[in-house]
Amino acid sequence: MTVRLKLLIAALLAGGVLAAALLAPASSRRYCATRAFMGTEVSITVISSRDPGPAMDAAFKAIEAAEGRLSRFKPDSDVSRINRLGIGRSMDISRETFRIIEKSIATSRISDGAFDVTVLPLIKLYPYGKEGKLALPERGAIDEAKKRIGSDKIVLTALDDKKLEIGFKVDGMEVDLGGIAKGYAVDTAIAALRHGGITSGIVEAGGDLYCMGRRPDGSKWTVAVRNPRGPGGVATLCLANLAVATSGDYERFFVVDGRRYSHIIDPRTGMPVARGVASASVVASDCETADALATAVSVLGAEKGMELIERLPGVECMMLVEDAGGGLTEVRSSSWEGAVGP
Ligand code: ADP
Ligand code: MG
Repeated sequence: MTVRLKLLIAALLAGGVLAAALLAPASSRRYCATRAFMGTEVSITVISSRDPGPAMDAAFKAIEAAEGRLSRFKPDSDVSRINRLGIGRSMDISRETFRIIEKSIATSRISDGAFDVTVLPLIKLYPYGKEGKLALPERGAIDEAKKRIGSDKIVLTALDDKKLEIGFKVDGMEVDLGGIAKGYAVDTAIAALRHGGITSGIVEAGGDLYCMGRRPDGSKWTVAVRNPRGPGGVATLCLANLAVATSGDYERFFVVDGRRYSHIIDPRTGMPVARGVASASVVASDCETADALATAVSVLGAEKGMELIERLPGVECMMLVEDAGGGLTEVRSSSWEGAVGP
């Protein structure tokens, strides 16, 4: 299991905590808990004047439930059941899974197919998690897998308000919600906290996070975007009721002939993204949107990715783009500073 922290929660560093504690009403305290889910660490921080234990437990339960439905590694999850479906059959799915797949298809449409949750047959061709002398798959295998890729080949049917179904148009199709599930899980945890009366805090899942409300002194939460190629941060973001998700090529990747291949697949070429966007951080009003778009722009690259971001109201993005010599250039969407300033 990899512990992945793409964003350092600067608010938790000594200075921020001290300022918060001094200015908070006497009874208001900071509570923090971390648990392992979805192959990463999920941290919940809340500011509360009463015991937030039940609300935090409910938030972790919401994340566990999301993982139980959406993980392709859990044999009983909705996703695993969907992936055993084959052609010519359809099955009932939960409202939540239906909705997240609907959102995935919509994200595929607006990103010209760059975001595509049906890339799993391609993912399975590549040597992720392996070391030593690795090779790329044969072109023929990639072309064969590509026949089973495409969000337009997913059939979602809402028969009435209660009966929701999914099916595939092509045999051997499979979905992998790894590019959107963490963001969704963060949103469900935030909803659970709100339901429990919490109005201020941060939920973070492996670098994707949502900052709820403000700190007790009225300031926004501050988080730092990590340097994808070295220690420390490259930018500080101030967020209130906003999410940020980061996709990078520096955590899960493999190397063939000295070249780094990311865990994000370009569905159009059938190849993993190699060189280009070293990291993309997307700010949006919910973490699910931010997560999916961070993956999408990593595929699209700086120019097309920024074009997409600029078309979407309330969404901002910062990318670190790597040139052939390994240098990093920072690219920001037009209203980035306004969205993440103090
Ligand atoms: P992280 O999991 O590090 O936050 P992402 O949100 O970018 O990173 O998601 C990457 C995951 O998304 C991959 O591990 C894979 O499960 C899935 N994926 C890979 N390529 C695509 C793609 N083009 N569209 C949608 N999901 C993808
Ligand atoms: Mg993502």
